[in-house]
Amino acid sequence: MQSTNKRVGCRRRGLAAVVTAASLMLAAPAGIAPAMAGQGAESPSANSQTNNGNAQGTNNGNGQGANFPSTNGQTNISSILTYADMQEELEKLEQTSRFNVDVFTLAEAGMSVNTSEQDRDLYVATVGTGPEDVWLQGRIHGNEPYGTESLLTLLKDLGTNGSPDYDLLREKYTFHIIPMYNPDGSEENIRHTILNGSEQRVDLNRDWTETGFAAKESLAFYEYWTMVKPAFGVDIHHQGLKQQWDTGDDVTFSLGISLAPGGPTLPGIEDGTYDVLTRQMLVHVYDQLSKYGSINMDRYQVGNGLEIDIKGGVVSAMMLGLDYQGLNSDGHSNPVIFYETSGNTSDGSLGQKARGKSIQQNVRALEELLLGMATGEIQQKDPERWEDIPHQPTTGYQTDYDGIVPVQ
Ligand SMILES: [Zn+2]
Repeated sequence: MQSTNKRVGCRRRGLAAVVTAASLMLAAPAGIAPAMAGQGAESPSANSQTNNGNAQGTNNGNGQGANFPSTNGQTNISSILTYADMQEELEKLEQTSRFNVDVFTLAEAGMSVNTSEQDRDLYVATVGTGPEDVWLQGRIHGNEPYGTESLLTLLKDLGTNGSPDYDLLREKYTFHIIPMYNPDGSEENIRHTILNGSEQRVDLNRDWTETGFAAKESLAFYEYWTMVKPAFGVDIHHQGLKQQWDTGDDVTFSLGISLAPGGPTLPGIEDGTYDVLTRQMLVHVYDQLSKYGSINMDRYQVGNGLEIDIKGGVVSAMMLGLDYQGLNSDGHSNPVIFYETSGNTSDGSLGQKARGKSIQQNVRALEELLLGMATGEIQQKDPERWEDIPHQPTTGYQTDYDGIVPVQ
């Protein structure tokens, strides 16, 4: 089912890998792992927090708690992972993982356009040997940082964990992990990327359209997607602070689908297959994460009972099977869901002390989703239970193609 093309990058990078390994050995004596740079004393690395995400008490309805995103959360962006931190961590994982983690750039993978607007390399890490490919992307919005840490933590788990669950994941899937889709925006701590040589800002998550691809990042990752042809995917974001509509409790985590289930678009794709499967995916994540008292979820909505229904978002375009410049002429498409972590840098509500918990809920949500897909448990879920996930009654759809469309 897969073209051999996508492996080309992995083979091509062989020499570079040797060079990198040699450099690392010079830089860091064996047995001493280089610390992740940029971490404050009170903010241990993402990896060290994987085991204590549920050990910090509950906070439902307590948005001002020290361990929760809050408006007095003392957001300190100096401790957010930088592009260089990500490169260092990827190299470390490639060197130290028990199971083959392959790190490469889109230039090494042979994409025709293959850097960011400001000429930064775009990174992908693969792990697993399975026949189905899974697309996991984070930080397409540069000021939404924890997608990077969450995906690096997941990559470490997939590269090192020898339990039967992880064996199953590696046997069934090949993971394509994009920890920092938008390195330029990440370095500037802004949502957008800025086109080279101009002041124009482009939201990369509105740029996969027939008239889009204004930014180099978009075409680079799009071409890679057309080669990978994933079976499904996840996209990781942040949102402002919000409360459950019915209880008023603070929400730590929202579950979303960028083309609304039952809305104007999704039921018409692939005979409604994605309309069903995306809801099953998130119902499963909701069920599994509901077991943790520290995680409080709802459905992602844009406000006033409006569901999001955008066609230009990257994950929407994947579901729509966008064929740009004939690169996807066989019309591949795949379902994708997204996660929203409460707290963001732009509102100063990230809540630095909530960092470990915020990352851990993403990691748990990713791992539960992947296992649920691999075991087939998700495909057995009742999609109608999407209605059970807390949300405001739907009044309409906020679109990027026809304004607000009321519920019929
Ligand atoms: Zn976002």
